This record gives sequence, structure tokens and C-alpha cells, in this order.
Amino acid sequence: VTDTEQPIDRILVIVAHPDDIDFSVAGTVATWTAAGIDVRYCLVTSGEAGGDDRTMARADMATLREAEQTAAAAAVGVTELHFLHHPDGAVVADLVLRRDISRVIRIVRPQRVVCQSSQRNYDRIYASHPDHLAAAEAAIAAVYPDARNPFAHPTLLEEGHEPWAVPEVWLTGDVEANVDVDITDVIDRKVAALQSHRSQVKDPDAIEKLLREWAAGNAADAGWPAGRFAERFRRINTQ
Ligand SMILES: [Zn+2]
Repeated sequence: VTDTEQPIDRILVIVAHPDDIDFSVAGTVATWTAAGIDVRYCLVTSGEAGGDDRTMARADMATLREAEQTAAAAAVGVTELHFLHHPDGAVVADLVLRRDISRVIRIVRPQRVVCQSSQRNYDRIYASHPDHLAAAEAAIAAVYPDARNPFAHPTLLEEGHEPWAVPEVWLTGDVEANVDVDITDVIDRKVAALQSHRSQVKDPDAIEKLLREWAAGNAADAGWPAGRFAERFRRINTQ
């Protein structure tokens, strides 16, 4: 496991949709919260375009999915979630989203941000949903330069949010992983977190099997012995 030398007190995870965190980083989050680190979530959308129940009003789906994400967060020790309410399926990395993410960065003041990759991975097309690419692009732009630049989005200063420089970013779903986190001891908590998304998970046993296969595959890619589980990230220096 590669890790930074800097003390990490607060980590902010920024993703497009409810359940994105729980597929990609919830096991690592469980290790961080167990170590006493304050982890908080920022959800760009509330996932109202998810599922296939056409009888449910989309506003009701958003409410349901926010509740599911809140339960999933609790399963790995996270209690503070920021929902930005951008439209699911129509996320654009525009200045409004950059401002909204910058606001959360300035509120949370994290030493590490985790976000999705803005580079399309043609080997894992689900990881490269257009909302993920856009949310990632906006998150990186918020880390550098917007959140640290006092002259970017001047309304944020007027609201009382002082600039904050995030020194490093970890990307999920990127093709060039350079950090492997051992989640063997917390894989059950990751499974519980993902199973909290009941409106999306039709078969809880199948999703558990899938998660364990992926995590075992990550560990094998990292060169670890059988029986270990891992989540992989690309660490970027943003200092
Ligand atoms: Zn997603």
C-alpha cells in the first residue's frame, strides 16, 4: 500500500450517482473511518434516472436514493453527505458544477479528494458513464484551480467560504492504478453498503458475488496472494 506522508484528517469523496462510491471505494472508506479519519461524501446527482420502475415519480426516486446512499454511508462510518441535485443523466462539467463542488471542498477542507476518472476506459464501459466523466472533470477543476483561487466563483467568498488547496486526489476506475488498498478485513461492510441501494440491487447475493470477484481480481492484479481483496486507485499530486 502506497500512502502519503502527510497527516490526513479529512477526506472528501465526490461522485456522480448514489451507489458509485459503494462499487468503487466503500471498502477503503471503511478502513479510513476505522482509523479515525473523517470521511464525507458529495453526490452530484440523486440518481433519479436509475431503475426501471416507470410508475414511480422521479422526485420520489431521488428521495429514495438519497436515503439509500445515506444508509450505505452509515455502513462504512460516514454521516455527512452533500447532495448537489444536478440532473441525473445530464451532468455537464460547467462552471455551475465547478462552483458547487468548490463550495463543498471549501466547507470540508479535505487533505484528500477521491473522485471518478475523467478518462474513458473502453475496457470497462460502465465505469465511464458520461455523468462520471463530467463529474470527474468538474471535481478536478474544482480541486485545481477553483477551490484554492480566491478569485474563482467570487460568490463563494461572499458566502464566507475561504479558499482551500487539496494536496492530492485519488481516482477510481482509472486505467493507470498506482495505489492498492487492502480491504480484506472490511469486505463485508462494503457488501452491506452496496446492498443498501435496494432500489438498484435486484439480487443481493449476486451483487455480493460480483463485488468479491472484482476485489479478488484487483488483489491478483496487485500481485497479492489468493484470499485477499483490494480496491485500486490512481493517486495524483495536486499540490
Ligand atoms: Zn454512476
